[in-house]
Amino acid sequence: MQSHILLLGPPGAGKGTQSTRLAETYDIQHVTTGDALRANKQMDITDLETKYDTPGEYMDAGELVPDTVVNTIVKEALSEADGYVLDGYPRNLEQARILDSMTELDYIIALEVPESDLLVRLTGRRVCPECSETYHTEFEPPAETGICTACGAELTQREDDTEETVKERLSVFAENTEPVIEYYDERNELTRVSGQGSPEEVFTRLTSVIEDDWLARV
Ligand code: AMP
Repeated sequence: MQSHILLLGPPGAGKGTQSTRLAETYDIQHVTTGDALRANKQMDITDLETKYDTPGEYMDAGELVPDTVVNTIVKEALSEADGYVLDGYPRNLEQARILDSMTELDYIIALEVPESDLLVRLTGRRVCPECSETYHTEFEPPAETGICTACGAELTQREDDTEETVKERLSVFAENTEPVIEYYDERNELTRVSGQGSPEEVFTRLTSVIEDDWLARV
């Protein structure tokens, strides 16, 4: 079954980890605007006459990259995908309306994590620049401090995971993305799932939502 899944939630809720697993499990595309933008941080967007000249400058400030840039990325990715799990988009109401015109969603799930946990989760996150494995200094440390257990490369911190930028990202979420969650909730299309506990526990909750629904349909 080629499902169209949207995973919403604040920065640090575990969207990236869970989306990757959902995509592998259901053999669908993982469409993530964050990764796509990180791969194009230096792209020249001066033609758009926006505040900054590259996506990277918005990202490092914790602000949203302009809609036109992000909408184009998503439109192209979705047109190439049969089934997908969408992660990191839509982040404001305008993007949600554009998404409505692009595709039909089967599952819209919001991962919920208390705000007090998010800062700790994000500032402790470390990533491997070689194989993209992620760790947490406290909750999921690598075998050797600062070294990727999977491939041996030196771990780094995302530039937007510093305390100052994380605070800005959380306030951008509250202002711009919370209304998106309400938008789907008001249409009775939203399922809320707790993002607390181990990645394994959260994954089990997510697959139950999806598979219980499959069972209900047969
Ligand atoms: P993420 O990896 O999803 O936390 O995204 C990292 C950063 O990329 C965000 O803080 C934004 O600067 C930018 N970004 C990702 N997705 C979007 C989006 N849908 N709209 C605008 N900016 C985005």
